[in-house]
Amino acid sequence: MTYLCPDCQQPLEVLVACGCRDYVCNQCQQLVSKGRVVHLEAELIEPLKGGAQTR
Ligand SMILES: [Zn+2]
Repeated sequence: MTYLCPDCQQPLEVLVACGCRDYVCNQCQQLVSKGRVVHLEAELIEPLKGGAQTR
């Protein structure tokens, strides 16, 4: 699963704190609330340029 910013469609950074997940857009430099996060199935997106994150 990939999470995208609803404003700029950039991949979000997922921060896990105290069992909660926060989604941060480095582009907009803001938190994105869970309800606004755009979810993408991994199979639906093409590999991002620059290489895949392995984890
Ligand atoms: Zn953004």
